[in-house]
Amino acid sequence: MFIADTHSDTLYALGVNHAKLQDLMINPEKLRKGGITLQTFALWTGRDGNRGDVDGIVRGELSARRFFEEAGIHQVDDPAQAKEGENAYMLSVEGGEVFEKGLEAVSEFRQLGVRMTALVWNNENAIGYPAKSGEKRGLKPYGLDVVKEMQSCHMAVDTSHLNEAGFWDIFNHTNVPPLASHSCCMSLCRHFRNLTDEQIRAMIRDGGYIGINFYPAFLSESGECDVERVAEHIDYVCQMGGEHIVGFGSDFDGIECAPRGLSGADEVPNLLDALRRRGMSEEAVSGIAGGNLLRYFSRI
Ligand SMILES: [Zn+2]
Repeated sequence: MFIADTHSDTLYALGVNHAKLQDLMINPEKLRKGGITLQTFALWTGRDGNRGDVDGIVRGELSARRFFEEAGIHQVDDPAQAKEGENAYMLSVEGGEVFEKGLEAVSEFRQLGVRMTALVWNNENAIGYPAKSGEKRGLKPYGLDVVKEMQSCHMAVDTSHLNEAGFWDIFNHTNVPPLASHSCCMSLCRHFRNLTDEQIRAMIRDGGYIGINFYPAFLSESGECDVERVAEHIDYVCQMGGEHIVGFGSDFDGIECAPRGLSGADEVPNLLDALRRRGMSEEAVSGIAGGNLLRYFSRI
């Protein structure tokens, strides 16, 4: 089965925090054990946003790729280049701060192999405002220029962390559907990082994509849960008619705890089983595991 994950902070943990490979939720051994065909590694700009050393952080993250390259896990430029039965990774960016120096930075990052960028993390930047801010204004004029430049480079616009007004600006001012690489459902867990039913409906209508986050605080208001709860969020999108646009956005190595039975990439098969237990067909499970993401990228 082609299994894909659209978000992890593994390169930050390795390249900036200097974590030990064996302590991480994702490492070469766990990717192999879990049968992960395509792992997305985010280049996160860090918690200080544009007040921090963005260039230095990104350099550290890029150099941490060696831990995977040395283990025979290589970078692909397009999800379709990843081969079932093997393990590969793709780059994303989390934090539009990397594009603040000018629109040409978009194609520079695209040339590095970056296929999706979250416009903001939890800080306001030159592009827009995070959901965390509660800000009601949408994208800034420069932000809309960045979005259009990304779309012309076939780089997916990632709305995870973005405020709602910014989310709607993408739908109202462009024709290419965005993705939410690591977000859950607001109706199942009231948290500012989650998507409302209206947002999920727009993703379904326009052919976007949602990677369900594995962070217990986004999955359950009690802050703890097991793998079944992740399946419940996925099923919620399916029940709304989104069986073809939903998948996995683990957030592994960016979260301090994980659901029981889903502690790392090696346990992703438990999630496939949880989906089957909910009565999903093998075809639906294989779409959610990775087929849906492949089709999203062929649409954009
Ligand atoms: Zn994030």
